Amino acid sequence: MNSRGLRGRTAVVTGAGSGLGRASAHRLSEEGAAVVVVDIDSDAAERTATEVQGPAIAVQADVSSESDVARYMAAALDRFGGVDLHHLNAGIFGDFTQLPDLSADEFDRVMGVNVRGSFLGIRAAFREFRRAGAPGSIVLTASIASLKGSADLFAYHVSKHAVVGLVHSAAMYGGPLGVRVNAVAPGIVPTELFRAAPSVAGGKNDMELRASTTPLRRAGTPEEIAAVSTFLLSDESAYVTGQVYAADGGASIVNTVRP
Ligand code: NAD
Repeated sequence: MNSRGLRGRTAVVTGAGSGLGRASAHRLSEEGAAVVVVDIDSDAAERTATEVQGPAIAVQADVSSESDVARYMAAALDRFGGVDLHHLNAGIFGDFTQLPDLSADEFDRVMGVNVRGSFLGIRAAFREFRRAGAPGSIVLTASIASLKGSADLFAYHVSKHAVVGLVHSAAMYGGPLGVRVNAVAPGIVPTELFRAAPSVAGGKNDMELRASTTPLRRAGTPEEIAAVSTFLLSDESAYVTGQVYAADGGASIVNTVRP
């Protein structure tokens, strides 16, 4: 991508107080976009908005709340006059409770952030594009959990599969309007979220062990994921829509039955 290729655009990034969302906000800002940093954690949102080099504002909001989503879009309009790019990235793992003991409330909580939050953000973006009479670009953060099942993190895997459904259907709606909707599907990236994952080998933190089974034999960095999400948001991917682009060191191609 051309450096500063997003000059004049406004990008909203949710979950941008930490991890992948923070890296996305940085990269979008480096490319010249004004950035709206949304996070449920107001201090974290403020930190990212202060760190990035270009114009940015922080908005504390819970993406699963309809009124909070309306509020962050209103703040973006108020400060920057519109929204062109929307990275719906906020997500949670939820409890690591096995299926028979997983409560319906916990299932709803995970679906609330990861699916309802993504739906509300997509809808808000489409409403804004309609108001402005101009197309925009939407990227969701899916996961390798969107592509494979797991007995662990049941609600998380279900929710990330649903994110793919949102991408496909929103891309179908948006295509004739010139609105593109894609997802990046990260693999293993050491962030606060992944540090809370249960061990596969009984060790305290075996992230590197998991990463060593992938073709590239290492974990990714938030910046490597942001490179892909920014590409998908930008005009460099003008003929790409409805796609789930794995940025996972090849993890999703591994046949676990036949190594
Ligand atoms: P993270 O925990 O470092 O960052 C997530 C951010 O989202 C936090 O700042 C948190 O405060 C915020 N957040 C949580 N709930 C929110 C809500 N309801 N409303 C607004 N903000 C909220 O995690 P991360 O690894 O950067 O995860 C970002 C996204 O990437 C998630 O959707 C996650 O599922 C996905 N993902 C991460 C990995 C990985 O290895 N780290 C892999 C695949 C997918």
